Amino acid sequence: METMGIDEVIDSRQMEVECHACHAPNHRTLGWMRDRHETQCDCCGELIVLGTADLRSKMRNTERLLRVLSEQLSQTLQHNLAGLHR
Ligand SMILES: [Zn+2]
Repeated sequence: METMGIDEVIDSRQMEVECHACHAPNHRTLGWMRDRHETQCDCCGELIVLGTADLRSKMRNTERLLRVLSEQLSQTLQHNLAGLHR
């Protein structure tokens, strides 16, 4: 029984976006940021641009890492389950 697929896990993954004005860490999910180009700082209301190369590459890296982990995890689980049924 699967409750959450890897795409949902990736979309709900929170990332920290630092405000360039007050340096407060703002937390946004990957799925939320994917369709948006800017957000307002929770702390001071400053506009934060989400489309920067640095942030986009961080998002891609996080997504890639989660996919690799998910594949390794499911392989390990299958291996362990196969062992149980022997
Ligand atoms: Zn701020």
